[in-house]
Amino acid sequence: MLSVHEARQRILSQFSPLESESVPLEQAAGRVLAEEVAAHFDLPPFDNSSVDGFAIRAAELAGAERNHPVRLPVIGDIPAGMQPTFTLEGGQAARIMTGAPLPPGADAVVMVEDTDCHEHGARLAGAAVPENVSIYRGLRVGENVRRRGSDLKTGQVVLLPGRLLRAQEIGMLAMLGLASVRVHRKPKVAILSTGDEIVPLGAPLAPGKIHDSNSYALAVLAARAGCEALRLGVAADTREAVREKFEAAIQAGVDVILSSAGVSVGAFDYVREVVEEGGTLDFWKVNMRPGKPLAFGHYRGVPFFGLPGNPVSVFVAPTLERLQGLPDAAPDEHRDTAETEPDSAGADARATANPASWAGRLRVCAILGEGLESDGRESYLRASVRLEDGQYVARFSTNQSSGNLFSLVESNALLIIPSGVKSCPPGTEVEVWFLP
Ligand code: AMP
Ligand code: MG
Repeated sequence: MLSVHEARQRILSQFSPLESESVPLEQAAGRVLAEEVAAHFDLPPFDNSSVDGFAIRAAELAGAERNHPVRLPVIGDIPAGMQPTFTLEGGQAARIMTGAPLPPGADAVVMVEDTDCHEHGARLAGAAVPENVSIYRGLRVGENVRRRGSDLKTGQVVLLPGRLLRAQEIGMLAMLGLASVRVHRKPKVAILSTGDEIVPLGAPLAPGKIHDSNSYALAVLAARAGCEALRLGVAADTREAVREKFEAAIQAGVDVILSSAGVSVGAFDYVREVVEEGGTLDFWKVNMRPGKPLAFGHYRGVPFFGLPGNPVSVFVAPTLERLQGLPDAAPDEHRDTAETEPDSAGADARATANPASWAGRLRVCAILGEGLESDGRESYLRASVRLEDGQYVARFSTNQSSGNLFSLVESNALLIIPSGVKSCPPGTEVEVWFLP
């Protein structure tokens, strides 16, 4: 039997990132950067004020306090967006708004709250420029000034290829003036359900039938993994019906085909025959629970995953991420044995680099709130994890049947029992993944 780690390596070694395309920034959220982005100008681009107040020379305010204010003439006004046309000479102040360029000659900004202009109840904005200002405290050189280049210097690398673009990255790219950006193409994933017992939503549930739930759940997982999901509907348990769905996937030009059943050894499992007739198929037994049977192959050159009817996504999500150019999960993520020491520092660095990716999914250490027995297979138990007295405590759902979707609805995490571990008393430290 393959370990989770081996199966994953075998699959991932067959995939590389899809080609890149340029997209408008408004459409780039959730996509993966395919180019390096460096600052082509300093940020901030000019020295500016971080407060509403008065630009001054700090040395002139030495000893200023409430009872002994320093009084200076106000020689000008600098609203945000305006370049000052004057230079501040000794003994002068200029009114300045947040984000406005610091005038030449000034080296600090006193907040309006620390002057008499505030005290009088007058709001600074819209109010006439006062002739003089009394300043109630001393300042350090540079106080309340955002220096040019203090965030980023020209030429500094801001984002590397492989970065998932979240709100903060999109904002950063906009700050750099980039209206479009190169990202990897979105993988297109076909999702197929099979089985005479499966009826589409809207159809009545006749005796012996169940609704198609897998294709809906898989479509959400695929979309959340950054893909375009194409639900192909339900194929009846006949060779022709299954072949028709596979051909529809090929016609649609998909990058991956996912089937969530029909690859077991059941008498009516035609997915296997159809894939073998149009390509190749390998059957693997993976040493994990749930999700032991896994089929992987190619149909007319398109990669195919045959997931158990009771689905797990552990092998598919990293593949979909690799197609988009995301860096792989930390190598220790799926450990083969309980003895392997995790390289936690390395894992953390990678997780921080791509916090919103599947690879960077929030993993924490929790203690077991109750004891458990396992058969030694790497197990992913549906669990409820809560903070109790400053510590995460995991309690698992009693019905871990791989067909019980409701237990997943009631859980907020997966609890990972490493391979080789058979018994855990209450209080054992375990790794948990919070579910998105
Ligand atoms: P199979 O792999 O075809 O033997 O299916 C395994 C189990 O998963 C059976 O109980 C099926 O009824 C169930 N199943 C298969 N496909 C779906 C689906 N699309 N939605 C919900 N359950 C399914
Ligand atoms: Mg079936």
